[in-house]
Amino acid sequence: KSINIAVDGYSSTGKSTLAKDLAAALGYRYVDSGAMYRGVTLYALKNGLIKNGRIAENLADYLEDMHLEFIFNRERGASDLHLNGEDVEEEIRELEVAKYVSDVASISEVRKFLVKAQQKMAGKKEVVMDGRDIGTVVMPDAELKIFVTARQAVRTSRRHGELIRRGKDVTKQEVEANLMQRDLIDSTREDSPLMQAEDARLLDNSELSLKEQLEIGLNWAKE
Ligand code: C5P
Repeated sequence: KSINIAVDGYSSTGKSTLAKDLAAALGYRYVDSGAMYRGVTLYALKNGLIKNGRIAENLADYLEDMHLEFIFNRERGASDLHLNGEDVEEEIRELEVAKYVSDVASISEVRKFLVKAQQKMAGKKEVVMDGRDIGTVVMPDAELKIFVTARQAVRTSRRHGELIRRGKDVTKQEVEANLMQRDLIDSTREDSPLMQAEDARLLDNSELSLKEQLEIGLNWAKE
């Protein structure tokens, strides 16, 4: 049986950084489940399935037409999401995608489709996967589950800084509004809402450095 680590939590709590660092330290594969929801959303935006802020009711009919794949990028030292053969790693981080992704992720058929793909990846070898429902739905048997939190102001500053570094033109207010909106939709949707698994450990990293949070995670993984 392979060893899996689930990292869940609200938006921009540093889940993916922790998950990536843990994967690198342990030699496991890192899977960014949120990138897959973003990939579906990007497909919808590009193919006229989101118009005037409304998501087409038949979006799920197109799922079989979306080939999502993670391909290792040597330059970045990390995997990029590819959608139908095209590297979309940059595009899926746009605020335009973030605006609609939680509504897309509320569609049950979308979740079923992506959860299946994620479980297939987890079955292959040891993974660290981050998302919203990894400990509760995707890998309920994960050996270690971490639920990450951080204060709102800290999360907003981190995400805003990250977007600015990536050259995106956004204000802190826009970022904060988007984070709060996504958290609300993610934690109140009917199908597998964001919540801490009963057996998950809570990690508040508001006051922690990356090194400190990694050490805590590694200690838990060793127990
Ligand atoms: O992790 P990230 O912030 O990139 O995820 C984008 C969005 O995808 C989340 O706000 C959430 O709506 C959705 N998501 C989800 N389940 C996951 C991962 C992401 O619903 N496992």
